[in-house]
Amino acid sequence: MLGLLGDEWTLLVLQQALLGATRYGDFRSGLPISDAVLTNRLRTLTAEGLLERRVYQKNPPRAEYLTTPRSRSLWPMLVSIWAWERRWVSDHVPALPAMRHTACDAEFAPQVICRACGEPASDKDVVAQWGPSGTWARSIPAVTTRRRSGSAEAGMFPQTMSVLGNRWGFAILVAAFVGFSRFTDFQTQLAAPPGSVADRLSIFVANGVLVAADNRYRLTEKGRGLFAVIITALQWAQRWFEAPEGPAVELAHTACGRRFTAGLTCDQCGGRLRGSQVARS
Ligand SMILES: [Zn+2]
Ligand SMILES: [Zn+2]
Repeated sequence: MLGLLGDEWTLLVLQQALLGATRYGDFRSGLPISDAVLTNRLRTLTAEGLLERRVYQKNPPRAEYLTTPRSRSLWPMLVSIWAWERRWVSDHVPALPAMRHTACDAEFAPQVICRACGEPASDKDVVAQWGPSGTWARSIPAVTTRRRSGSAEAGMFPQTMSVLGNRWGFAILVAAFVGFSRFTDFQTQLAAPPGSVADRLSIFVANGVLVAADNRYRLTEKGRGLFAVIITALQWAQRWFEAPEGPAVELAHTACGRRFTAGLTCDQCGGRLRGSQVARS
């Protein structure tokens, strides 16, 4: 999941596709993206089964790019990233537009709920443990996400990318949610090079995601806000990259005692969100 989605342009192209872009020109006009980068990302996304390329005209040849079940199920993660950046990252120029829930026509923020009991859920009442296929070693990509061809960063979600665009960043944040707080714990648990751990921790402290005190690193309220991003990313990964022996991580909702699966509701009308009901305001 990190190898695939730890790339800002990839996320932005997917977001445009989910908002209705299908043709090359739609993506080109919706994003400040170069031809080289767009062509590269469309090719990767097609190869990974996130977009389906369909030729709609033979002469001259023209193709469109359609979403697939795999990419359509990414909307909870993309909506969560959008909401977190809007709420916590103030230096977007121009400001990120709001999202509208078409069912109630209000500008909204998504709320995480437990699908088993329907109640709101947060990192405080969801516990995680390794499942049959779970270890840190197996969950952290072997190579750092490559900077793919010609990729000047889009710069639209810089703080999200400090989490998703770096293999240690995501792992450290997950470890912080699980309860680790000491430098040496992050390092030994993840078997990470000390320099990489120090580097990520200092970026998270600078961004206000973690706060350092008494030799411990703890999540701030802003950091806790990433719960929705992490949980929706994890669920998507476990759905589409299933290990034969079972899931990597098992989640439980302590409030109801059942297995935790996240749903998203609209904070304005309380209704369950669907990907098809989220529009740009
Ligand atoms: Zn529950
Ligand atoms: Zn609503």
